[in-house]
Amino acid sequence: MPQPVQNMPVCRDCGGFTTVAVTTGTRNRDGSRTTLHIDCRTCNGTARIALASEQEVKA
Ligand SMILES: [Zn+2]
Repeated sequence: MPQPVQNMPVCRDCGGFTTVAVTTGTRNRDGSRTTLHIDCRTCNGTARIALASEQEVKA
């Protein structure tokens, strides 16, 4: 069955999960893992993608 089309365009790169925690493999002095929180570069953490038509209009 085809998936229902959502009205709101969601970023295809992150699927709405804009921030990911990346474990660097090192540990802090207190023993906790060192993680980096990185926002999705495609949507810049907005979870939405800009439509091509809108970009063309603004340009
Ligand atoms: Zn994204």
